[in-house]
Amino acid sequence: MNAPALLQVNEVSKSFPKPDGHELLVLQGVNLQLVEGQIVGLLGRSGSGKSTLLRLIAGLADPSGGELQYLGRPVSGPAAGISMVFQSFALFPWLTVFENVALGLEAQRLPRGEIRTRTLAAIDLIGLDGFESAYPRELSGGMRQRVGFARALVVHPNILLMDEPFSALDILTAETLRTDFLDLWSEGRMPIKGVILVTHNIEEAVLMCDRILVFGSNPGRVLSEIAVTLPQPRDRLDPAFRELVERIYVEMTARTSTPSGAASARTELFPGLGIGTMLPRVSSNELAGLLEAVAAAPFSGKADLPKIASDLQMEIDELFPVAETLQMLRFAELEGGDIKLTEAGTAFASSAPDERKRVFARQLLNFVPLAAHVRRVLDERTSHIARRSRFIDELEDFMSEDSAEQTLSVIVSWGRYAEIFAYEDENERFTLENPA
Ligand code: ADP
Ligand code: MG
Repeated sequence: MNAPALLQVNEVSKSFPKPDGHELLVLQGVNLQLVEGQIVGLLGRSGSGKSTLLRLIAGLADPSGGELQYLGRPVSGPAAGISMVFQSFALFPWLTVFENVALGLEAQRLPRGEIRTRTLAAIDLIGLDGFESAYPRELSGGMRQRVGFARALVVHPNILLMDEPFSALDILTAETLRTDFLDLWSEGRMPIKGVILVTHNIEEAVLMCDRILVFGSNPGRVLSEIAVTLPQPRDRLDPAFRELVERIYVEMTARTSTPSGAASARTELFPGLGIGTMLPRVSSNELAGLLEAVAAAPFSGKADLPKIASDLQMEIDELFPVAETLQMLRFAELEGGDIKLTEAGTAFASSAPDERKRVFARQLLNFVPLAAHVRRVLDERTSHIARRSRFIDELEDFMSEDSAEQTLSVIVSWGRYAEIFAYEDENERFTLENPA
């Protein structure tokens, strides 16, 4: 059967101006086709340009190069047939569930009766029956995201775009919502023709998608395209499912690492490199835990990550950010699905607590430019004090407000552990009180 393309993305690139006048290339040469009846996954680490691509598809921003076509016509501005579900739900707190959902139809100038009928139908479909007059604050996270889905579906879009729609939910709620969504989708009960799902979760992509585009970073681009032919409903424990998860996993690590070039491996994983690099929310405890596990028997310094994940009873997707962070700090190298400790990683694992802090401080100051930057500012000031807001302002030249907050709080916790500076929560400032 020759299904018509709902969406065609051809050689699309996107760059943003940086404060220094240069351009930051965020997407390069991206091709994508969405045909009727498919769920296409965009899978990649944070910063690989997935959300940017969705915004281009939704007509919320223009590409710097290439073209996008929706139903054979160039995308210019938001199209009525494309709607979006956000990770953050994006509901209006002062509107009821009914009003939040009906809002989707406002622009269409339909008769009141029809708005009412369609709104109630969408609410019913997505399992929110009985909650019409509740306010978002009265709902759990899962129910709020159901409102997000209902609002997107009420317009009967051809294409549903979903940007990490399950990642703000707890594990069980997320799984329930995924299953409900897939049931409605396979029964053809949703008024949509195709779906693009953005995720950083490999298992979620394999569970839900017909095709997966694996993204690499810096610049964001498609590394490979994988067809998932397992029949729905899929079973996470099915050996074929596990095999596919591991294959994608190995692919993602293989391409993001080079055996010899430490610098290029870091470039790949952590775009920006300078102080504008977004830092993952990974604690020093998690880092130490993985280092210890890899150093210990039976691994003795080198381990297959899927194997060690199952030994630690963690999902690969939970372990991945920790392993990537070890790589950034040059405590370990990732390659082809293996994690291998560097000299510094081995030294850390075999040291007593005080020496560990010294090893960690050295890696932090050498390989995390923001940590070195904070320390330098403190050293240079006679007061040895610097306000939090000073660094937040700087980071916001490179990233969103939320990312800047996260990145700085990561630096605070790593810096405290390494004792390279102190941070006063109550005064929101960095100091050199008590550092090593
Ligand atoms: P993902 O969704 O894969 O995490 P994003 O598309 O959000 O990635 O971001 C990709 C890169 O583009 C990041 O480095 C981010 O800082 C940068 N970026 C995104 N939007 C803007 C913008 N409006 N201005 C400058 N840089 C941006
Ligand atoms: Mg994103």
